[in-house]
Amino acid sequence: MDKQKIEKLWKELLIEIGENPNREGLKETPKRIAKMYEELFKGYDPSQAPQITTFDNGKDGINYDEMICDEGDFYSHCEHHGVTFFGKYYFAYIPHPTGKLLGLSKVGRIVDYFGAKLQIQERLVHEIVYHLWSALSDMGEEPLGMALIMKGEHLCKTMRGAKKKGQMTCSVMKGVFKTEQSTREEFLNLIK
Ligand code: ZN
Repeated sequence: MDKQKIEKLWKELLIEIGENPNREGLKETPKRIAKMYEELFKGYDPSQAPQITTFDNGKDGINYDEMICDEGDFYSHCEHHGVTFFGKYYFAYIPHPTGKLLGLSKVGRIVDYFGAKLQIQERLVHEIVYHLWSALSDMGEEPLGMALIMKGEHLCKTMRGAKKKGQMTCSVMKGVFKTEQSTREEFLNLIK
């Protein structure tokens, strides 16, 4: 990322929207934005993709094959308007009894990483699940199932145009979450 270039472009943009980039409050703004972009758009840099830690299932004397859940916040930018969408994610998986377990702190980091570029929520859920599913499967048995639900508020809808609460829910279900209604219901009840 060329921060000086971003700084220059932001200065031009400020002029175009009718601002004076030299006034006191804005003098450092292009520089601050360029610095912030390194974090907000780190998802374009494969070298910043988080390493996924996995553990052998059964290593602690129990071969776990029940649902493991994680939830947290996510932030991203909509690729149609360049403004923020953000909300909560709900993740669950059922490990293969002789496969691998995920280091759960990594789920949040993967969510952050794939959110850190221009996105649509539908692609975001898919990229996260595909990445985590592959990480587990590449090292052994496929997990029995995986699910991710993201509930996002899209400011491009809330702030402008329709000015309606821009809520959107997207989900991806794999394995038993797709084929077994009882498993899917158990997950949906947990996140209610
Ligand atoms: Zn949008």
